[in-house]
Amino acid sequence: LKIVVEKPPIPVSYGPAFEGERVRKEDTFIEFGGQKTPAFEWVRMMEASEVEDEKVEIIGTDWCSRYEQGGRMPLGIIVNVAGKKMQKDFEPVIERQIHTFINEAEGLWHIGQRDINWIRISKKAKQAGISLEHLGLIIMSMTKARFRSIVDRVEVLLYVDEKDVLELREEARKEYRKRDLRLASLVDEEVEEFYSCLLCQSFAPKHVCVITPERPGLCGAFTWLDAKAAYEIEPTGGNQPVQKGELIDPVYGRYSGVDEYVKKHSGGEIETINLYSIMENPMTSCGCFECIVAVVPEANGVLIVNRGYSGMTPIGMKFSTIAGMIGGGVQTPGFMGVGVNYITSRKFLKGDGGIKRIVWMPKELKERIKENFQKRAEEEGVPDLLQKIADETVCEDVECLIDYLSQVGHPALEMEPIIK
Ligand code: SF4
Ligand code: ZN
Repeated sequence: LKIVVEKPPIPVSYGPAFEGERVRKEDTFIEFGGQKTPAFEWVRMMEASEVEDEKVEIIGTDWCSRYEQGGRMPLGIIVNVAGKKMQKDFEPVIERQIHTFINEAEGLWHIGQRDINWIRISKKAKQAGISLEHLGLIIMSMTKARFRSIVDRVEVLLYVDEKDVLELREEARKEYRKRDLRLASLVDEEVEEFYSCLLCQSFAPKHVCVITPERPGLCGAFTWLDAKAAYEIEPTGGNQPVQKGELIDPVYGRYSGVDEYVKKHSGGEIETINLYSIMENPMTSCGCFECIVAVVPEANGVLIVNRGYSGMTPIGMKFSTIAGMIGGGVQTPGFMGVGVNYITSRKFLKGDGGIKRIVWMPKELKERIKENFQKRAEEEGVPDLLQKIADETVCEDVECLIDYLSQVGHPALEMEPIIK
């Protein structure tokens, strides 16, 4: 029996309690990345023979005294993993956890991912004895602990010479691009099975998230790959495979296997769901959705409001008010909780007309999804769709919204009625 302690051997406290803690500029001893020095983080699957288990190595000239001076340093983090149950697809799943692993250490702070990561070590953590090795040790030991069912060997290499970091970053970028292409090619029709998430049943007992390659969980924490990896890691956990069964309706996204699964796991409450519709038997919502989509009947479209936007929306309700109406695992046609990444999926409200239905979004949300949205808008033949979508700087009430939409010629006005 292997006993794994879920705390790395470091001289500061460790645990989820520190995850939200910020390290401000004036409290920072040293930082890496953040567009100020080149940096990246990259998890690679290797053969067992290529990985020296539990190794943490720092590679660079005079790295110790450079660290001791504080300030800024380049940093390339390479995590080599091997394991019988490891799959190439799990690389990004593990890589994303680097964020949590580092943040859970008191006085350490991490944001971003891939080649836009940013790490800070506070003066207090430094005084407590946090060294550069500890950073690698945290990643090594936590990867081993949290992913023990898929990973047998882990080594962490930290590169601190600018030349090395720049070179290896190019290699990492090639891998990131390959992954993105692979992700983009993962479509609902092509995969063998979907996955469920039942984690929110602890407070919304009838709620089932059905997670597909083109529809992530509504809290944003689970993509299809995440759910798949979670199932491999813990086969009796909250993520289970969902057999697709027969595709009953490709436009609305209705599968016989999904219906059976949802009926069983909602205690018989929900008979059927459409994965790609807000109007006809939409998926249920629990309470932790990143965004809410709501129908705006007068505009023949929908608005989307993100958690964190506290202003008014053109349907006369704020996020908090709508959230209170739709949670708890019931179907509420016309309202639905979604994850941010679902908005730019090709399957977003496909049954109701897709992204051309979006008439209003807060500015910060527009900004956040801008890049992917632009690609989708071009695919849909409306390259200026984002500009045609109103935000709070244009209007917060429905009359003004309609005026704006007709003025810019928003496509929703010409579509068939959203309420049938
Ligand atoms: Fe799981 Fe997130 Fe869905 Fe909750 S909202 S059931 S955590 S995917
Ligand atoms: Zn939830």
